Amino acid sequence: MAAERRPRTIVFDLDDTLYAEADYVRSGLAAVTALVGRLTGAAVDPVELPETDPLGAIRRAARLPEAAFEALLWTYRLHRPAITLRPGVAAAIAQCRRRGEAIAVLTDGRAISQRLKVAALGLELDGLFISEELGAAKPSQAGFVAVENALPAARYVYVADNPAKDFIAPNARGWYTIGLRPRPDAIHKWDLAALPAATRPHDWADDFSAIAALLDQCAVRSRSSRSATRRRIAGSIVPSPTDL
Ligand SMILES: [Mg+2]
Repeated sequence: MAAERRPRTIVFDLDDTLYAEADYVRSGLAAVTALVGRLTGAAVDPVELPETDPLGAIRRAARLPEAAFEALLWTYRLHRPAITLRPGVAAAIAQCRRRGEAIAVLTDGRAISQRLKVAALGLELDGLFISEELGAAKPSQAGFVAVENALPAARYVYVADNPAKDFIAPNARGWYTIGLRPRPDAIHKWDLAALPAATRPHDWADDFSAIAALLDQCAVRSRSSRSATRRRIAGSIVPSPTDL
């Protein structure tokens, strides 16, 4: 049976969009140092670790052989992360749900690691699309096509943080894109003024209350200009956010 066609499918990136990736790094290093401490007695303070090769530093501090590095790496990748949604995310998603919109996450990364993050964040989704499972990472259009096939809607939105790869494919497919402006705790930092047009989101937002306002604004506008928007999307012309 064909999936129900919704008015809109709202898709979020995961890392550094819905939560701060720096929290994940802290959480992972704390999990590795705790395990190593229990097994070897080595007391390693995760806060004191170097930014470069922190797992190697843990291994050396615990006097473990080089061959043990892979085990530490997988402990990091498979730990149960202590991470929380950014302020305003839950409210923004609830608002989308009230409008009958589908909610999905499209993220690059490993299947199990990304699923552990989604579980830790308590996200309830209509779809979860992970590059390792899709066999293609952004900026490939494959994940965005998979969303369109699984969650048919009149229109699509992608909310993400990384202009190096996040907005190229959805812009090309006629999606409306919103960028979460880089924050002090972001893992990746960008010179926004130097970005080529194709890599830029239609709108930037400072936080999730601004994102919720943009999504609401577009939803209201869409009711009066839906057919015009559909024609533009069918013609593969990137819609201007002012038209959505
Ligand atoms: Mg990201």
